[in-house]
Amino acid sequence: MKRVDQNLSTIKENIAKACEKSGRDPEKITVIAVTKYVTTERAIEALNAGIKDLGENRDQEFMKKYEIIGKKAIWHFIGTLQTRKVKNIIDKVDYIHSLDRLSLAEEINKRASKKVSCFIQVNVSGEESKHGLSVDETIPFVKKLADFLHINVVGLMTMAPHVNDENILRNCFRSLKQLQLQIQKLQLPYAPCTELSMGMSNDYTIAVEEGATFIRIGTSLVGE
Ligand SMILES: *Cc1c(COP(=O)(O)O)cnc(C)c1O
Repeated sequence: MKRVDQNLSTIKENIAKACEKSGRDPEKITVIAVTKYVTTERAIEALNAGIKDLGENRDQEFMKKYEIIGKKAIWHFIGTLQTRKVKNIIDKVDYIHSLDRLSLAEEINKRASKKVSCFIQVNVSGEESKHGLSVDETIPFVKKLADFLHINVVGLMTMAPHVNDENILRNCFRSLKQLQLQIQKLQLPYAPCTELSMGMSNDYTIAVEEGATFIRIGTSLVGE
């Protein structure tokens, strides 16, 4: 397995190129190391390489790593979140990327002791296998969150379809950006929606070109 610091420097070079192409500032992009496939030791190697943000998609695996790493990382919960699991993770994670239904918002609001930074997960491509709200459902959903004092909608998250066609990927990310701009226009105090969580190992350079502020990288950073 390649060293994380070597993988990270390749990824940073690619981010720099994508930023140059699109006139963006690389400082605005946070790399989340998705450690769901790898050991706690490998996650620590990522932190030692300069990564500050870790992403996990299952509560048990997250808890296992959290017990050892704790507050030395910024934690992102990126997976489908079952309502009954919320109480286990809520005061430990820094961001939830998978808010996709009202019942989940209710549970987060009820269990949290402070504001939680949430991304609304949007299924831009409309694939049946993917979680998330449709583009059309997203704004009505955001409006319904007004009374949830513990929910802060920091941004939108999507997973692009698993294809190599650059146009399909780019259109997916562009649609998410458009939706973000529409939500920002509403000027809802609980939904600043300044962030876009999009881009994974095979598509992050396109996501950066299209405005990602958080990219979630597993395979090409820490391995699978
Ligand atoms: C696994 C996962 C990733 C990372 O995927 P790679 O292709 O390994 O980079 C990113 N986001 C989510 C939601 C994931 O579940």
